[in-house]
Amino acid sequence: MTKLTVPIMVYELEQGLVDSAKAAAAGADLVEFRIDHFTEDMLAIGDLVKGSKLPCIVTCRPVWEGGEYDGDEMERMSALQHAPGRSVEEGDEVGVDDHGVGPAYIDCELLAWEKSANIRQKVMNAVRGGSGLILSSHDFKERPRDLMQRVEKMVEADECRVIKVAWAAKSLRDNLEAFEIIERKWKPTIALCMGEYGLASRVLAKKFGALLTFAALGSDKGTAPGQPTVEEIKGLYRWDRLGKDTKVYGVVGYPVGHSMSPQIHNAGFDEVDFDGVYLPLPVGPSYESFKATIGTWLDYESLDFKGCSVTIPHKGNLLDFVREEGGEIEALTEKIGAANTLVKRDDGSLYAFNTDYAAALDSVCDRMGIERDGLKGKKVVVLGAGGVSRAIVAGFAGYGAEVVVYNRTVEKAEALAKEFGASAKAMSEVNAIDCEVLINCTPMGMHPNEDEMPVEADVLKAGMVVFDTIYNPLETKLLKAAKAKGCLVVSGGEMFVRQAAGQFEAWTGKKAPLDVFERELRKHLDL
Ligand code: NAP
Repeated sequence: MTKLTVPIMVYELEQGLVDSAKAAAAGADLVEFRIDHFTEDMLAIGDLVKGSKLPCIVTCRPVWEGGEYDGDEMERMSALQHAPGRSVEEGDEVGVDDHGVGPAYIDCELLAWEKSANIRQKVMNAVRGGSGLILSSHDFKERPRDLMQRVEKMVEADECRVIKVAWAAKSLRDNLEAFEIIERKWKPTIALCMGEYGLASRVLAKKFGALLTFAALGSDKGTAPGQPTVEEIKGLYRWDRLGKDTKVYGVVGYPVGHSMSPQIHNAGFDEVDFDGVYLPLPVGPSYESFKATIGTWLDYESLDFKGCSVTIPHKGNLLDFVREEGGEIEALTEKIGAANTLVKRDDGSLYAFNTDYAAALDSVCDRMGIERDGLKGKKVVVLGAGGVSRAIVAGFAGYGAEVVVYNRTVEKAEALAKEFGASAKAMSEVNAIDCEVLINCTPMGMHPNEDEMPVEADVLKAGMVVFDTIYNPLETKLLKAAKAKGCLVVSGGEMFVRQAAGQFEAWTGKKAPLDVFERELRKHLDL
């Protein structure tokens, strides 16, 4: 079973021990004591290892390998020897579960190991008594060109019990190589990608059967870029539930770091007991990056990448990609020219569709107590002519509503209206509107401009449906005014939850737990 491992940079004995106790309490299986700053007092190193609440790895990482130890190399090796030998018979297989008094593993960089017989001798003195030797290699800049030669050397070194490679990923594709290295099963293996593109390798280490993954005690306690916290990996990314059959999903966009979709979908998977995990998947802005990344992820069979949400700037790229792959695109989505959902069906074929317009239509229809066909002839005003307006105008016009688009840049309103058989007006005329449904698709009223409102309160009439696509805040100034006038209101939060539900149901085949989605949305917005 892949061990959840907390790295602890040790400055003082007491702090190292307290942190190991915190790691145990947080549900970790193993700690890595980084003694980069703790090499002076040899007795204290022994006390640290003996007093740890969890089995441990002892590592003293030099600056030249991305660590913080800046002293003499021989003294560094001597420090490793201060960790007491394990209380197991020589030659016994060491599992991290049989927590003896010594470290479960000692880490030594491949480069140091290769330097001299003297160093190797000292390292082997440190791993005496049944501890295991991890040979490791790190590159904080990029994938090293000789990555596989490094792995081969670790495979060939008889003393090496564990292979560890970590490098800074330049794209999501790097993760696939990490999975490949683990799947070769030469020896117990740790293969991790660092940085914003590397999260998948850290979370999915368990799916692929790596020896361990690292997760930090707190967001300021990590020892490598991109390390999640224990709380994130166990809570958000469902660590305890991950297994080799777990299906993988995510939100593809750039940037995606602040997306609330992982929180919503993972909580949903939990609620309906679905064996899936949902990750932020940053993909650089070009079509080439999108095609290469999504193509290779879909082709990597054992990854079980079954679909994704797609956001800015890739909503158009998704359609081009699915077309090129001979997949299917839902009819109105094709017309909108932007899709936000990809499904890989059981037969391997691809299906792209847009849940934004459906979410908007169904929210409004629900409030009016009608089916979508009942929208025929209804007067709908859409404020704004950007990406969200486009999906909404296509949806409402597609069901026969009389749509008028108002926009600050009137030419954009005209172009959009022309495409979908709607009409267009300048935003300056907005206070003369007369409609049954008013939809705001501009950011007016969005945090931090909560005081803004796209129309005067006078135009709001009792019985009118007023829908603000903004979800931060959930109740905008426009919606407050609409409520006060007796309008029926729809929030951007409802649209967000429904568009996520459309994706969730397509992937899982289960009904989306809307209450859980809403709870997570409120949590995310800190309400
Ligand atoms: P977008 O493509 O950038 O379009 C923004 C539109 O708003 C443009 O038509 C722009 O007019 C207009 N606009 C911007 N600032 C304005 C101002 N100060 N006064 C008047 N008009 C202004 O953005 P988008 O992707 O369509 O997103 C629009 C809104 O949808 C956002 O506020 C966001 O909160 C919301 N949204 C909701 C969801 C959901 O699920 N609920 C999802 C995504 C987005 P010009 O053409 O003149 O520049």
